[in-house]
Amino acid sequence: MIGNRYMINITLDQKICIGSKCSKCAYVCPNNVFTTRDDGVTVTSPLYCKMCNECLEICPKTALMINIGKDEAE
Ligand code: SF4
Ligand code: SF4
Repeated sequence: MIGNRYMINITLDQKICIGSKCSKCAYVCPNNVFTTRDDGVTVTSPLYCKMCNECLEICPKTALMINIGKDEAE
């Protein structure tokens, strides 16, 4: 049997995120999971997340959610 892999899911709610004028999550993330552009902040490298929770703690809008799910595709 091939073992299950764990997937880190990061959800950034664009409806409540205040975007590039904030960018605090991108600033604190040690692993460059986020990318800031003029039109907003996005999650671009979720696989690099090490679950340190820094972004969750600094987000002023509670726009981020991180959870772990099993990837049972194999
Ligand atoms: S939990 Fe840590 S590593 Fe993961 S996205 Fe947030 S700041 Fe980056
Ligand atoms: S810290 Fe929160 S509000 Fe600020 S850019 Fe990141 S997700 Fe958006």
